[in-house]
Amino acid sequence: MHWIDQIAKALLGRGEKHTIASGISISGHIHIGHCNDVFIADGIRRAVEQTGGKAEAIWYADDYDPMRRIPWPLNEGDLAERYKRYLGMPYINIPSPDQTHKNFVDYFSRPFSDSLEDFGIQVKIYSAAEIYRSGKMTNLIRAALEHADEIREILNRYRAKPLPEDWLPYDAICEKCGRLATTKTYAWHDNYVSYKCDGCDYVAGCGHEGEADYGKGGGKLTWRVEWPARWKLLGVTCEPFGKDHAAAGGSYETGKIIAKQVFGYDAPYPVPYEWVSLKGVDEETGEIVHRRMSSSRGVVFTLPQWLSTAEPELLRYFIFRSKAMKSKEFDPGLPLLDFYDEYDMVENAYFTETGIGDRKEEQVERIYELSQVRATPKQQPQRISFRFAAVLCQVVKNWDQAIDVIKSRGMMTDPSQTDVELATQRLERAFNWINDYAPEHLKFKIAETLPPEAKAITVEQKNGLKILADDLSKKDYTPVELHNHIYEIAQNVDIEPQELFKAVYLALIGREFGPRVGNFISAIDKEFVINRFREIA
Ligand SMILES: [Zn+2]
Repeated sequence: MHWIDQIAKALLGRGEKHTIASGISISGHIHIGHCNDVFIADGIRRAVEQTGGKAEAIWYADDYDPMRRIPWPLNEGDLAERYKRYLGMPYINIPSPDQTHKNFVDYFSRPFSDSLEDFGIQVKIYSAAEIYRSGKMTNLIRAALEHADEIREILNRYRAKPLPEDWLPYDAICEKCGRLATTKTYAWHDNYVSYKCDGCDYVAGCGHEGEADYGKGGGKLTWRVEWPARWKLLGVTCEPFGKDHAAAGGSYETGKIIAKQVFGYDAPYPVPYEWVSLKGVDEETGEIVHRRMSSSRGVVFTLPQWLSTAEPELLRYFIFRSKAMKSKEFDPGLPLLDFYDEYDMVENAYFTETGIGDRKEEQVERIYELSQVRATPKQQPQRISFRFAAVLCQVVKNWDQAIDVIKSRGMMTDPSQTDVELATQRLERAFNWINDYAPEHLKFKIAETLPPEAKAITVEQKNGLKILADDLSKKDYTPVELHNHIYEIAQNVDIEPQELFKAVYLALIGREFGPRVGNFISAIDKEFVINRFREIA
C-alpha cells in the first residue's frame, strides 16, 4: 500500500472527517523545497476521499511572523538599504518592492498560491494576519495567557536555559516602531498585554512601552503555542511538517502536550518529511553544487519556473514516488532528461498489462495515479521523449512543423488532439529548458552551408557518412534504430562509433559534439542531411 494510502487508512481509523493542514512562513520566494507539505496534504485529502471519508486540505500562510533577514532579491543593491528598516516587522506590514503587488506577502506568495491549481492542488488558503486581526484567535490567546505558567513549565522541560518567570506566550507589535520581534510581553489584563520594545538579537528596539489589544491582532502567539492553538481553531486532524519540528523536544512534541493540556485538543496525525534540495551549477565557480534550497541566498526554483520546463505531473511524481522521509534532490540540469524518461516509463507501466499484479506493480500504478493533475487518463497518451523534444525544438521553425517531423519518423501514429497538445507543450518546455537549464553541449545551431570545420573529416569518416546518406535515402528509421545503425556502419568502415558521431556533428553543426546522434539526425530534415553528407563524401 502506498504511504499516502496508509496515512489515509490511519486517519479513517480515527474518524470520518479530516482537515489536513500545510503552511509556510512567507519569508521570501516559495520554492519547490516548500512544496512537499502542500502536495502531501493534498495527496492525503484525495486518498481519504477515495476511501470514502470527507477531507479538506488547507494551506496556511504565516504572514504575521517577523522578518528575520531580508530575502533575495530584496537583499541586493539599493533595495537592501530600503528593506533594512523592516527587520523585525510582521511580513504583512512590509511593502512590496514593485507596484503590481499589494505588499511583501503578496509579492512572494502569489506566484506560489496562483500556481497550485495548475498542479491539481485543492486547498483552502488562510492568512495568519487575517485570523489574528479578525479576532478569531482571541479566546485561544486568552487561554494561553491564563495557562502561561503551565506552558512555560512544559517548554522548560526541553530548554537548556529556562524562560523568565514573567514570560508570556505572546509577542506584541510595538505601536511606535511596528516591530514584533523586538518586544517583550510581561503582563496582561482583559484583552490587553503590556510590552516593552527592548530589541532582539538581530534588530534594536525603540524602547517604547505600551499595551496591545490581542483581540484585534495587536500581536501573535509565540510559535510553539500558536501551532497547537491553530490546530484547535481549524480542527486540524493531520499535518505534514519538516523533520526539524519532529525532533525530540521539537515543536510537535511540545505542541502535542500544550494542545492537550491547555486547549483540550488531540494533536493531529503527524507526517514528518525530509527536505527537498536543489542540485545545480554554481554560477560563480561553475562547480556542481549540492545545497539545500534557501530563499535567502537566491538559489530558488519556484512553481512557475517548474511549469516553464517540466510538466506539473512530474512534480507530483517527484514527491509521491518515494516516502516522505526519503531525502529528495532535484536537479533542473541534465538529469531532467532521465527524470522525464522515468515518468514516461511509469506511465507506460501503468497502461501495460503484465498480468503479474504484484505489490511493486500496484505501487507504481498508485504513484502514477497520485501524480495526475486531473483524472487519470483512460488511454495511454502517445508521447515524444523530452530528450527528442529538446533536439527537435532547436531545429524546427514552428510546432506544426515539429509535429509533422514526429509523425513522419513514426513516433506517433494517428495522434489524437490531446496527444498533439501534450507533444506541443513538451516542445515548448524543452525549448525553455534548452535556454534556461540545459548544459552547453546540448545546444546547437544547424549550419546552413557546409561549415569550415568539416574539413577535419577523414576519408574513413567520409565513407561512413556516404553509407549513412545512402541508407537514409532508402529507409525511414526511428531515432533508436538510427542510433544502432550508425554503430553498425562504423564497424563496417572500421572506425570507432565515436569517430562517426564526430563526423556527423562536424558536418551539420561544425563541432565534434552534440545531442544523441539518433535523436539529432531524426530531428533534421532528411533531404538536408542526405545532401550534406553527400556533399562531404
Ligand atoms: Zn518599538
